[in-house]
Amino acid sequence: MDADLLFLARIIDNESQRLKSAAANERAGRGHTLIALLEETCERIASEAGQIAAQLPLSNSAFGPSHERELFRLRYELQFVHELLARYGGDSGRRDLPVGIAHLVDELVSDFLPRRADPIIHLSSENMYSTLAIVDTTPQLWRKPLPPEPHPVAFNLPALDPSNVMLSPILAHEVGHTAWRKGLEKELNRRADLGTASTHLRTAASATGIDAQLLVEFFDSWRQELLCDALAAVLTGPSFLFASAVFLPATASTTSIGPHPYPRDRIAYCLRILDQRGWTPFMQEHVPNIYQWCRNLGNSVTLNGGPIETGLRAAIGATEPAITKVALDKTSNGIDVSAFSAKLPEFREWFSNEVPPVKLSASVPTPWEIVAAAWIFELNRLGDTAEALVMTSSNVYLNRFLLKSIELAGIHQLWSET
Ligand SMILES: [Zn+2]
Repeated sequence: MDADLLFLARIIDNESQRLKSAAANERAGRGHTLIALLEETCERIASEAGQIAAQLPLSNSAFGPSHERELFRLRYELQFVHELLARYGGDSGRRDLPVGIAHLVDELVSDFLPRRADPIIHLSSENMYSTLAIVDTTPQLWRKPLPPEPHPVAFNLPALDPSNVMLSPILAHEVGHTAWRKGLEKELNRRADLGTASTHLRTAASATGIDAQLLVEFFDSWRQELLCDALAAVLTGPSFLFASAVFLPATASTTSIGPHPYPRDRIAYCLRILDQRGWTPFMQEHVPNIYQWCRNLGNSVTLNGGPIETGLRAAIGATEPAITKVALDKTSNGIDVSAFSAKLPEFREWFSNEVPPVKLSASVPTPWEIVAAAWIFELNRLGDTAEALVMTSSNVYLNRFLLKSIELAGIHQLWSET
């Protein structure tokens, strides 16, 4: 047993050193916090394996199996380090992405992640915008109750379309998931009517005989999704409605229960949040057809009528007021409809002249104002139809122009602050 343990401890020591030197080869800069943490983790693992090796030969061989289990656990952690390093190593200090993307990501970090975060921009093979990969997986490697600051957060952008600014409000929703794990869930639990919600869930469970725990998981997932939708809608205004309509897509009418609420229910909720923020008259004035199309979709949710669906939708309905309140309270930089409306004519002039709107007479535009103004301008140009939403979201030239606008406005803002 002693020889076997020593053999395993040597493998772990070797692998830790190898991974540590691989990490040391990565560039410093944005996202380097993760690399530093992985190096630290390798050191910890090597030291824990070393402590076991130092106890050999064992005075009591009965301890052998537990040491062996410990060594295999350390080896598993090293596989994890390897995975994270292989996936995100090249993202540290990268300079090949448009600066406008970095500005947008920084904006989201300061909007939704109150504790300092070090964003890693990763081009993912999946066509999605998740931000959870590191948040969910690494605390076990750090062995600390709270992640160190700044904590690394991965922004997974779709590899084939990372610079799509028109869809960037979806990224705001995804950052919401990270914020959920960093405190918003507790905040919502404090304020939501969970008693009524659980009555609905219990009724559904007893009517169907389904495991109540499964229903609770769906409920948790749905309210999290809706809170993320609410945060993104408050922050980015109608841009989130337009981006969601394309991304979900809004016309989907599936009736199978999954981790997300039905797309049309989400569109309907987005419209309610936008209404609370005063956007309804604005949309009726500027994009009346698209607004009505979204309303019609939200009012014609296809239902299977089963008790699970009914129970979940009723439980979410009981929680919605609290979700909305939390989103409104936690989003201090949301676009304000009156201020934005006043700026719109100026935006139109800049866009018509194909000049990036870097400075308006009242202020430097924020990234979300630029995105919203671009959606409205382009939808008006293309004719206020559902199809125009798709064409606008995929307009490569417009997206490039906006990235440049966000970059230049960001620089202007920095100058004006110094
Ligand atoms: Zn989500």
